[in-house]
Amino acid sequence: MNYIVLDLEWNQSRCKSNEIKEMPFEIIEIGAVKLNDEKKEIGRFHELIKPEVYLDLNHTIKNIVHINIEELNQGIPFLEAMEKFLEWCGWEEYTFCTWGPLDLVELQKNMKYYHMEPLSMTPIAFLDLQKLFSRQYEDNKTRRTLEYAVDFLHIQKEEPFHRAFWDAYYTAKVMAKLSDKTLDHVSFDVFHIPKEKEQEVYKVFYDYAKYISREFATKTAAMADREVISTRCYICNRNLQRQLKWFTSNGRNYYSISVCPVHGNMKGKIRLKKTKEDTYYVVKTLKFISEEEKKEILIKREKTSLHRKKNKKMYNQRKTISSMVVQNKNQIS
Ligand SMILES: [Zn+2]
Repeated sequence: MNYIVLDLEWNQSRCKSNEIKEMPFEIIEIGAVKLNDEKKEIGRFHELIKPEVYLDLNHTIKNIVHINIEELNQGIPFLEAMEKFLEWCGWEEYTFCTWGPLDLVELQKNMKYYHMEPLSMTPIAFLDLQKLFSRQYEDNKTRRTLEYAVDFLHIQKEEPFHRAFWDAYYTAKVMAKLSDKTLDHVSFDVFHIPKEKEQEVYKVFYDYAKYISREFATKTAAMADREVISTRCYICNRNLQRQLKWFTSNGRNYYSISVCPVHGNMKGKIRLKKTKEDTYYVVKTLKFISEEEKKEILIKREKTSLHRKKNKKMYNQRKTISSMVVQNKNQIS
């Protein structure tokens, strides 16, 4: 399997009122490096794209990208560039690799705007190297700029940043420093959320498992689905009893604890996500945790129920007070 390390530069409207909602960012440059399964470079791609929607460069973009409109007008139309790019990607199976999750989203938005056939009708597995850099070298949460990672890893800087080809090139250099274990952690782009049960995503990593559900009309429907709330051990496939039932403190994130007799305490986390069409889907992760982490969840649960009780008490008190006020008023009148 090959890797397509991709970077895009895009332009946007100079004033918000002229922005096209379907395509707020128009791609103006595509750069990519192709790597084989040993992560050795086997190809390069670069194309400038002649703008068709935002014909002037936005000031911020102009300052960041170091490109002028005359140069861009020498480029080729997006459709032509994409055809060339996809042909260059080839027929062999490949995984997109990008610095952060945005490039794949904007690429698909631009493709949709030009009525191109979608890259996929289901979530696309890709490597988010910005996230993976944090996973290997930092706390898995911090997000660094590409230049920071390049400096951190003492990669030689040959050309300026924020030009598509060179950013893709540097991203590939960072990728070469990441271990196979780190690179095992694919992300999923959800530009297309699964519509059918068969399209749902299940992925088992060495240290956790991930599930992306299909779309549901309501939150309640999502949280009533058997697959959504199931807590099967992702190592031995046993259906586990939930020691702590799914609970939420904010209506978005749900937690549970189940116990596998062989593999121990398994934490479940459900994130309810709303789509642009006001439907819902679920990203569930299952992960084995220590006794210490289990305690933390139990405390969280305790706090949530105390908070609920307090709110209920306050609500009841307010109800009593307001009914007393009404009674008093009635007595006075
Ligand atoms: Zn198990």
